[in-house]
Amino acid sequence: MIKMPNNLMQKAHEAPRCGAKTRRGTPCQSPMVRGRKRCRMHGGAYGSGAPIGNRNAWKHGLRSKEYLEEKRRGREIIRRLGVLMESGE
Ligand SMILES: [Zn+2]
Repeated sequence: MIKMPNNLMQKAHEAPRCGAKTRRGTPCQSPMVRGRKRCRMHGGAYGSGAPIGNRNAWKHGLRSKEYLEEKRRGREIIRRLGVLMESGE
């Protein structure tokens, strides 16, 4: 039997786990697919899932990236106006 250094598989063991609920009711122990949140058996397989930019679940856009960014900018402007008002007294 070939002796391997202990740390050779260390990284693989530390890989984040899938965590999907299995038929036993326990969290899946398989490693996540790179760039996905689940293992290859639980929806992480390449080619699975919706295409990029899919809007099948789009409702009103109030939580879209664009709208949240717009709100953030609006709040920033109001905050700066407040600072200006305080310093201008
Ligand atoms: Zn899994």
